Amino acid sequence: METTTAPDDREFYAKLKEEIRDAAPKLGIDKIGFASAEPFGELKQILLRHREQGYESGFEEPDLDKRTDPALSLERPQSLISVAIAYPSKLPNPPKSEPGAYRGIVSRSSWGEDYHKALRKRMAALESFIKERVPDARIESMVDTGALSDRAVAQRAGVGWSGKNCATITPEWGSWVYLGELVTSIPFPPDRPLTDQCGDCTICIDACPTGALVGPGQLNSSRCISFVTQTKGFVSDELMRKIGNRLYGCDTCQIVCPVNKGKNWTHQPDLQPEPEKVKPLLKPLLTMSNKQFRERYGDMAASWRGRKPIQRNAVIALGNFRDASAVPLLSDVLLHDDRPVLRGTSAWALGRIGGAEAREALKEAERTEADPEAAERIREALAQLAGNDERA
Ligand code: SF4
Ligand code: SF4
Repeated sequence: METTTAPDDREFYAKLKEEIRDAAPKLGIDKIGFASAEPFGELKQILLRHREQGYESGFEEPDLDKRTDPALSLERPQSLISVAIAYPSKLPNPPKSEPGAYRGIVSRSSWGEDYHKALRKRMAALESFIKERVPDARIESMVDTGALSDRAVAQRAGVGWSGKNCATITPEWGSWVYLGELVTSIPFPPDRPLTDQCGDCTICIDACPTGALVGPGQLNSSRCISFVTQTKGFVSDELMRKIGNRLYGCDTCQIVCPVNKGKNWTHQPDLQPEPEKVKPLLKPLLTMSNKQFRERYGDMAASWRGRKPIQRNAVIALGNFRDASAVPLLSDVLLHDDRPVLRGTSAWALGRIGGAEAREALKEAERTEADPEAAERIREALAQLAGNDERA
């Protein structure tokens, strides 16, 4: 990208860059880096292959040019700024999960205030800081839902490298960071890109419970629990068993990463978790109205798909815990909920838990269920119970 910056200007922008770097911690930003605004040509090829292999989640920006060319987000861009803020990885005083009072777990990426909001506040402050010094600067800020790839910008700006687990890993903060980026019309001198530091390590790939990491930095989203917990439809038996008690997201490939060892960040007050909210009791989730859900969980990133996926995942978790005390509640969902996915998933959970009461509810539902997929789950659950009886 051609710039016509005079030497004096270059000095001014280099100084401004250092001023911004010094101000970043006061703006609530833990790491900041600068990069050129050239298109990400190599990334486009990688994303194309990813799409051809059917590995996309469906949540990403569909236009690959927008994801890889900053000029489609801001006319005549001159630089990119990557920002990272660090979040906690440990729950202080975690509430106990116990028989009859089992709990689900929400991914660390949804602890504290919704990170979109947390990042936007900080990026707006950064934008004001820059505009006070360069009033005619043009700046486009992006958080997650923005078009550009966070990871690619962070890597080019020297903020972190793209790990084999597909997370951006910063040497200082590990991968427990939220990322945002700004496309600017200011020709800041670029920082040096960070190169891959995973080396021979494959711990994350080996630890993934579903084999979703099909290669280094290659994720098959349809098998990734993090994505599956955010879908709204039926989930396969295999994946439901592997979801365990996860209500939203999956942190396994980050927890096992040696770079994250001992890293837990508690200095950002708005990102700290409320233990009862991020490790909630499962049964009360099932009876929650939309309004109650919004009031209780509406400010969390995990609520972005509404209450249905969280409730479905709570049903799955109760099934995986084989919580017999949940049978009346699950039977009620099976027979009376107006959402086929919830009814069918409850059938699966009752099949996992078993017992006379679960069987009775399933038999009753078999007579009345009108939705073909839910009916199929009911038949499968009854068949499983019959198989259990034969083996007993
Ligand atoms: Fe595997 Fe979980 Fe990582 Fe997805 S988030 S790749 S399921 S370990
Ligand atoms: Fe890289 Fe190892 Fe961390 Fe995976 S676990 S991201 S391979 S350092």
